[in-house]
Amino acid sequence: MTDKPSALITGIAGQDGSYLAELLLAKGYRVIGAVRDRQKARAALPVEVADAVELVVWDMLDQRGMTEVLAQYRPQEIYNFAAYSSGAGMYDDPVGVGEVNGMAVARMLEAIRAVDAGMRFCQASSREIFGEAVESPQTESTPVNPRSPYGAAKLYADSMIRIYRQRYGIFACSAILFNHESPRRGLGFVTRKITHEAARIKLGLAKELHLGNLDAQRDWGFAGDFVRAMWLMLQQQHVDDYVLATGQVHSVRELCDLAFSHLGLDYRDHVREDEASYRPAETALLVGDIAKARAGLKWQPEVGFKELVQMMVDEDLRNLSNRT
Ligand code: NDP
Repeated sequence: MTDKPSALITGIAGQDGSYLAELLLAKGYRVIGAVRDRQKARAALPVEVADAVELVVWDMLDQRGMTEVLAQYRPQEIYNFAAYSSGAGMYDDPVGVGEVNGMAVARMLEAIRAVDAGMRFCQASSREIFGEAVESPQTESTPVNPRSPYGAAKLYADSMIRIYRQRYGIFACSAILFNHESPRRGLGFVTRKITHEAARIKLGLAKELHLGNLDAQRDWGFAGDFVRAMWLMLQQQHVDDYVLATGQVHSVRELCDLAFSHLGLDYRDHVREDEASYRPAETALLVGDIAKARAGLKWQPEVGFKELVQMMVDEDLRNLSNRT
């Protein structure tokens, strides 16, 4: 018998999962990664994390399997990061998105209720629940208006969390996450696409980068800061939902400028604005108001935008240089 705190993380091999695992291991937690493929997850995780966590097979569609895993490992905290999280998948498979990003949360809450209603649960929700936001900045009480199957599924999950909180007193909460990035961000996301291609151009492996609207603006933070906030959410006396963001917006153009200039390059020589990949402009600025997280969690982001972009460029350059 051990008195270490314990946590189960779904999606542990993704960006947020790996940062949270590092944070919890440093705090002395027993960390259980619930994954669909143990070998793939082990290979994707940083070696020190892969060696220190326990990986268990977990199916987001299998409530009985979830219940058995919770009964076996008895984690005190559960962080649900597993989800369809990017681009095309958000629209291509609406039923699959509904199952994994939405219904799976109801299954997990039922599993918690069946095994131990004292387990604490944090859900990675998304600013996509606001869709075409009716106000800016967005807060925890901004009216929801999802415009993608992804946003609709996350909203269903948030609704179930509130219901289980009210009806069964379960300590379950949603982190309404704005974009957060890192060197571990997938290559399909614009931030990583830019830092990775800038490094390739620097190394002579590519010449040009084609992007959509360079004046599109986003609220971009660092993933390491965001997982710390989610951990804090489960350490509170009172359960609540929080918007996690930076509260500041930057344009894709600024991102390009920072990334290329960090490598001694001028983005205007390499970046081409491709009208074919323009997305319709948002009616309201997508930016989070973090007043509640600042006051309630005593949290604020520590890594600024410039530092984040430079960290990503440096890591891409290092990895690509090692391969060439
Ligand atoms: P990643 O894409 O890096 O990681 C997602 C994880 O989910 C992966 O480990 C993946 O597993 C797992 N996953 C995907 N589909 C399934 C499935 N069908 N069954 C089981 N596991 C699955 O995402 P992030 O770490 O960036 O995001 C974490 C969470 O935060 C997600 O829920 C995302 O929706 C949410 N979020 C993230 C934002 C961001 O800016 N990063 C913004 C708003 C919300 P595998 O390794 O097997 O592929």
